[in-house]
Amino acid sequence: MKISMMHGAGGEAMNELLKELISEISLKSSEKVYGLEGMDDGAVINLNGVHVVFTTDSHAIHPIFFPGGDIGKLSICGTANDLSVMGAKPMFFSNSMIIGEGFEVEDLKKIMKSMDEVLKELGALLVTGDTKVVERESLNGIIINTSGIGIAKKPIYDSGLKPGDKIIVSGTIGDHGLCILCHREGFEFETPIISDISPIWEVVERALEVGGVTAMKDPTRGGLAAALNEMASKSGVRIEIEEELIPIKETVRSASEMLGVDPLEVANEGKVVMGVEREKAEEILEAIRKTKYGKDAMIIGEVSEGSKVIMTTRVGGRRIIDMPLGDPVPRVC
Ligand code: MG
Repeated sequence: MKISMMHGAGGEAMNELLKELISEISLKSSEKVYGLEGMDDGAVINLNGVHVVFTTDSHAIHPIFFPGGDIGKLSICGTANDLSVMGAKPMFFSNSMIIGEGFEVEDLKKIMKSMDEVLKELGALLVTGDTKVVERESLNGIIINTSGIGIAKKPIYDSGLKPGDKIIVSGTIGDHGLCILCHREGFEFETPIISDISPIWEVVERALEVGGVTAMKDPTRGGLAAALNEMASKSGVRIEIEEELIPIKETVRSASEMLGVDPLEVANEGKVVMGVEREKAEEILEAIRKTKYGKDAMIIGEVSEGSKVIMTTRVGGRRIIDMPLGDPVPRVC
């Protein structure tokens, strides 16, 4: 078998490959380490009672500058958001850049500036890095890997859903994927589609302060559909959502209809999906809506006994939301 674009697209194909690769590693996680086998957004290392969360993410987005951000902003947000959904405040970052020969130094400076803006917003530090340059034929542009460390008072796992929990999304779905697709293909709309890329720690922190968060995930590649399916299958529960309650911008809806792409399956870069205890749901929603990036948050459904993700459609039908094979838009992060 050879690697195809589907193996990097955040869906079933990628998960199958990862499971195969992880099985090659002989030393496994222990009581003190929740590691690779968890296939979660990050690892949790218990160092004498302190929960250190550690994660890494490579960013190969094309194009590197797009409406709402660039690869620099993405490189910090991507890693910071994976730490955040583990319940950890993002603190320290690395930045490893693989740069194609011929890349403009001015563009590199712009990228660093964008990283700095997000780091400042988070109050986090970039503390180490690496730079490699390869021939133009091997890479036309730049690929950035960032790793991040954060501390969690109480780690949150994507497998923690319980029947009775409510499901919250922190804002509109599909913005990033449709933004990149439209920008790449040169489609223009009256109201342009802007990527939602942003650090979600404040949203998470407010929710954790209320208490009752049972599971979290950032719906990146594979979108809301992939995030919900992973949470449901790992928790051994069913998730029932209502189409009518899922926040989607009108422009995103019409662009996805025109392009034949399901907005539930494309990447978001500034959103969190949360399972929360039923009694706390309204209070958490209210707290999230007061944050900068959580104004459009909604309770979109609930958790019950069973399996799979099931959506009640606008016209009242019920359909299964499957785990996508992969994100329909390649190189989106
Ligand atoms: Mg993630």
